Amino acid sequence: MRVLISEEKIQAKVQELAQTINRDYGNRNDLEDNPVLLVGLLKGSFVFLADLVRHLTIPVEIDFMAATSYVGTQSTGNLIILKNLNESVHDRHVLIVEDIIDTGLTLYEIRERLLLESPASFEICTLLDKPVKRHSAVPVKYVGYTIGDEFVVGYGIDYNEQYRSLPYVGVVEGAVEGAEGSDRE
Ligand code: 5GP
Ligand code: MG
Repeated sequence: MRVLISEEKIQAKVQELAQTINRDYGNRNDLEDNPVLLVGLLKGSFVFLADLVRHLTIPVEIDFMAATSYVGTQSTGNLIILKNLNESVHDRHVLIVEDIIDTGLTLYEIRERLLLESPASFEICTLLDKPVKRHSAVPVKYVGYTIGDEFVVGYGIDYNEQYRSLPYVGVVEGAVEGAEGSDRE
C-alpha cells in the first residue's frame, strides 16, 4: 500500500472543511428551526461524515442514501436507489457528504433527483475529487483534496469491500489503474 494522503493530513483537512462549513452556514438565522441536513452517500462516506460532524458547531441532522449509477442509453435517469432518505428534502438545507467524485455521474443524478423536491439550499462536500474523468458537471462547493487518476482506498473507501477501515488514503500497489473493484456506492 502506498500512502497518498496521511491520517494527519486528512484530519487537518476535515477540520478546515468543517470550519468553512460552520462559517458559511453560521450566519443563517433559520438553522435552529431548520438544521442542515447532512446526507451521507453510503457506504464510502461513513468515515468522513463521522469525523466531519464532530467539528461542526451548526445545528445538523444526518441521513444516508445509497445509490449506484450506471452508464445507460440515456444521459440521465440511470440511478438505482438502494436506500432512500427517510424524509423529503423539501425546504431543507441539504449538504451532500461524499467520499470521492470521479466521473460525476452518481452525484449528477442524485442532485437532479433531490432538486425536484425543492430544498431550501443544496451543496456538495467531497473529501476527494478526481476531475480527470469528469463528464457530468456538478457544482461542488467543498473539496478536500484534488487527486489524479488513481484508484484509491481507505478512510471509508473500498476495493472489494476491503480497506475501508484504514485511517489514511492509499493506492493499492499492483492494482490496475481505474480498476472497477468498488461497488461504486
Ligand atoms: P462517479 O459517479 O463520480 O464516477 O463515481 C463515484 C463513485 O465511484 C465513488 O463514490 C466511489 O464509490 C467510486 N470510485 C470512484 N473513484 C474511486 C477510487 O479511486 N477508488 C474507489 N475505491 N472507488 C472509487
Ligand atoms: Mg461514494
